[in-house]
Order: sequence, then structure tokens, then C-alpha cells
Amino acid sequence: MLTLQHIWNMMNSSEPLSSVLSAIVNSLQGELGYVYSFIIKPQIKDEDSYIQIVASSRKDYGEKFFKHFHCNLSDYKMQYPGIEGLKEAVINNTIFQSTKVTELIHGFIPDLDKEKLESFFNEANMKSYILVPLVSKQIHFGSLIVFSSREKVSRNELNFLSLFAKQIELAITIADLFQAVKEQAVTDPMTGLYNRRYFEEFIKKEALRAERQNQKFTVIGLDLDHLKQINDVYGHNWGDIAIKAIAEVLKNNARSIDVAARMGGEEFTLVLPGVDTAGGLVAAERIRKAIEGVELEKIGHITASLGVATYLEHSDDLDELLEIADQAMYESKRNGRNRVTVAKPAHETSWQDVAINTFIDILTKHRIPVDETTSKLLTQKLQEMNVNNEKLYQVADTLVTTYNPAHHDGGVKQKVELATLLAKRFDLSKESIDKLKIAVLLYDIGNTMIPKDLLNKREPLSSEDKASIKQHPIIAAREILKPISNIGDIIPIIEKHHENWNGTGYPNNISGDEIPIESQIILIVDSYYALLEERPYRDAKSKEDALKIIMSEVNSKWSSKLAGEFIAIIKNMDF
Ligand code: GH3
Ligand code: MG
Repeated sequence: MLTLQHIWNMMNSSEPLSSVLSAIVNSLQGELGYVYSFIIKPQIKDEDSYIQIVASSRKDYGEKFFKHFHCNLSDYKMQYPGIEGLKEAVINNTIFQSTKVTELIHGFIPDLDKEKLESFFNEANMKSYILVPLVSKQIHFGSLIVFSSREKVSRNELNFLSLFAKQIELAITIADLFQAVKEQAVTDPMTGLYNRRYFEEFIKKEALRAERQNQKFTVIGLDLDHLKQINDVYGHNWGDIAIKAIAEVLKNNARSIDVAARMGGEEFTLVLPGVDTAGGLVAAERIRKAIEGVELEKIGHITASLGVATYLEHSDDLDELLEIADQAMYESKRNGRNRVTVAKPAHETSWQDVAINTFIDILTKHRIPVDETTSKLLTQKLQEMNVNNEKLYQVADTLVTTYNPAHHDGGVKQKVELATLLAKRFDLSKESIDKLKIAVLLYDIGNTMIPKDLLNKREPLSSEDKASIKQHPIIAAREILKPISNIGDIIPIIEKHHENWNGTGYPNNISGDEIPIESQIILIVDSYYALLEERPYRDAKSKEDALKIIMSEVNSKWSSKLAGEFIAIIKNMDF
């Protein structure tokens, strides 16, 4: 009874499910003197279900077993052994007991040697097993299995075991319910502000309302300055205190119809219904001042950077609105923090702004495996006041150098300029050219992700390896760039920059005008500069030889028009 009481108390506390289940199997072992007890359930991998031990009475014991037999339970499919009566017991949800321990384990793991198993179990004094099917919400989800040193256990003991099984089922049901309640929650537990989920729902409705009533609303994006430093110097608890202080300021400065949300970490967003940019700016400035005025024990003063954007004024697309509010916030950071910046209308945002924000996002969110020092240095450069093209190109050059040692500084700038000249010859709009410029900065970003073991492989590459090396960067680029919201239309350009005019390229073997002109331009520019660079398997080509090769691939890799324009530009200019 005491044991059950203890388990009840645990289930009622905020202990994670895994600890509750461990406590249950451990008490079983203690109370009823089992040699080993554990809970298994199926784990879905690649659409198949494999065995997973979710809790066991003695971790070391299981480990010893699997080490002894050189096997891993999780490599085996979750299928109940074809032992007489066992499957029926599972289906009917009744307890099953037997002395044939070897048969059970061999049924789960058919690769094991029966004799060796037999002697292992003899040595461990495991004379019988009991399997109790587990059911939650009428669905069978696993089993409790115990090994006993007695050959037969009493009716009483079996009843007692069922009671434990009920506890397990209850713990799992409660955990599921708890998860559901958590998913329905609308507030952030640390600050009491609304959470991201609520915010997203709210702002969608607000946008619909704004359109219907032609009434603007303003969002303020806010990010605490130098939180990392606060954490590092004073500890994480003090960082939390700073976050809570910001939340208090937001609560005190919000009208009843405003919604203040903590989006995660140190990022907040405030929605001000019915407020235009001028009003939003006043509110943001008031909040900034209030935060600056807070004095915290130990930490002292804190500050925040803010960005303001208004729906139907800066953008009439919700995602874009949030994105440009975020960009404005970053501009506040770049210009020295502790300030408010009003967003630029979406159509006035320069391609450099988009590129800078994309790089900052990639670096600060660790979307590519660049070492910490390089990453910090580059981020710093991008966050400096008045970032100009030169700094942007320096960052791009450094990133290319991380996977291409033959790349020389200034190379990215040349590619952007060459691509722009070509685009003009094809009468591309300014908008398309801007996209192309960003695509030129990013098209090889996936190269940072080529698995090193593939690159270092000594034996000759199989055709599969080659295909993987070729395709991987394109897939990786999409994965890296996908979460970054305002470059959605640049990803397709990047994805298609290895397609050939005659359909022999990759990944989709499209041909001719199916390939966006921007992608065609990137292919020829990239190929040309690759020829000028040295490769492990060949010397660098001269300009003349490179142009000859470009000519020889007319109608296979590119159109004759593209190659013609390209060569005309190169001959006229100093590229
Ligand atoms: P910046 O002024 O550029 O925003 O500098 P920063 O240090 O605030 O920004 P950065 O984004 O580099 O670091 C944010 C840090 O905030 C990293 C992360 O560990 C910390 N952080 C995120 N969420 C929490 C939290 O809930 N509590 C605490 N204490 N720290 C958090
Ligand atoms: Mg911060």
C-alpha cells in the first residue's frame, strides 16, 4: 500500500513519465522480489515498429545482457513471440505466465543462441516470467514483463501485479492528458504573457478583422539586449529575472485590447489593434524607456531593441509584416541597441537587407556547422552599424571558403556583378535581379553540409555516393533556407541551378525554358569561376580555356543565347 501511495504521489507531481515508470518497475522488484522487471513498447522507425524498453528495474542488468549477447533490442521488430497462449493473452488483455524464459526472449530476438540464453537465465536464477499487457484508452501499447526466481506465483501475487499494471496505464493516460492540456495552454508559464501559439491565432484573426473594417494594427517586436552576457556573468536565473522584468513592463504598458506575447527565449511581440505607425512608435518608445528605467538587483539596468511595423501600411501580408518587424528590430540592434526602429515598407526593403538578415538568421540559429569563432565574427560584422555591400561580401566569401579552399576573397562580389550584367541582357525586372543577387550569395550554402565521411572516403566513390555528393547540397540548401520566411521565392532558383539546358542536369532533369533564367545564369557564372579555380584533380584553367569550354557546352549545359551573352560580357569587361 505504501508503495502504491508513493507512486500516486509521484504521478500527482510534475515528475516526467519516464521517472514515474522507473519508480513503478523498481518498486515491483523491491516488493515482490523479482530478478528483473521492465516495460516494453513499440517504437516506430521507418514505418516499422521496433522494440523499445521504456523503463527497467535495473538498467545495468539489461545493458549487461545486451553486451553479453552483442545485440541491441531496438534493432528487432516488435512482434510478440508465437508462444502458445501468449498472443491470445495480449489480445484479451490477460496476464500470461510461464517457466519458459528462454523461449520468450528467443521469440523476441531470434538471432540469439538458445543454449547460451538457457545458461544465462540459469545463472541469473530466472525461473519464470509473467507478462502483463498494458492498455491505455482501450489501446494495447506495450507490456510489463517480470522475471521471477520462483517457478510459479500465487493468484494473489498476480492480482497485485495487475494493480501495478493499472498504475502504469494510469500514469501513461495522465501523461497524455497533461500533454493535451499543455498543448491547449495559451500562456507562457514563466512570464504569464501569451505564448506563441495563442499569438499566432490571435494575429490571424486580427488581420481578417483589419481587412474587413479597414483598420490598421501595429506589431512591436522586442528582444532583450545582451541576455547571453547576463546569463554568463550572473547565471541563468538572473537571465530569467531580466526576462520577467521585461514581461512586467509589457503588462504595465498594454491596454486591455493589446496582446503581449513571449515568442520564446528573449523575444516578445506586442500587437496593438487599431493603432497606426505613429501611435505604435510612441508606444514602443514608452516601453523602451520603461525597460531602460528598470533597475534590477545585481544586474542593474537592462535594455531592449524594438522594431515597429503596421499592417496595411508596411505590408498587407501577415508573414511579411512579422518578418519586417523583426528586421526593424535587428536594425535597432545593429545601430547600437536600446532603440526603436520603424520598419521599411516591404517593397522598399533592399536586397542587401534581406541578405544580411538571412545570414544573421543562418549564423545565430546555427543552421550550418560553422565553428563558433567564425560564426561570432561574421555575425558581429553583419550587426555593425551601416553594413555595406563590402561587409556583406566579406561574410559571403568567408562562408564559401569554409567548404571551398580555392575560393578567393572578392569572388562572390564578382559573381554577383557578372550575374547582374547577364540578367540585364535578358531584361529581368529589378525585383528579379534582386532575387538573383541574393541567390548568388546563397546558392552553395548546402555545401557546408556535405557529410565529412563521404568527402574523406578513400575507396573510389560508388555511383550512389557520387549522386549523393551532387544532390546533397541542393537538398541541404532547401532545408537550411526553408525556415527563413521572406526568401521563399529564392529557394526554387537555388534548387534548379544544376539543371542543364538539354535536361541532363539534376535534381529533376528539367530542360530549356522550364529552368528559371535566374538558375541558368547562376549555372554559367558558377561553372566559369569553378574553371578558373584549381581542383584536386586538375589545374586552374586560363580565361581563354574556360571560355572555350563554355562554348563547347552550348546546347548541352546552356543555351547558345546565354553562352553568347556571357562571352560578350567577359570579353568586354575585366572578369
Ligand atoms: P543581443 O543584444 O544581440 O540580442 O544579444 P543576446 O545575447 O541577447 O542575444 P543572443 O540571441 O545571441 O542570445 C540569446 C541568449 O538568450 C541565448 C540563450 O541562451 C538565452 N536565453 C534564451 N531563452 C532564455 C531563457 O528563458 N532564460 C535565460 N536565462 N536565457 C535565455
Ligand atoms: Mg537578445
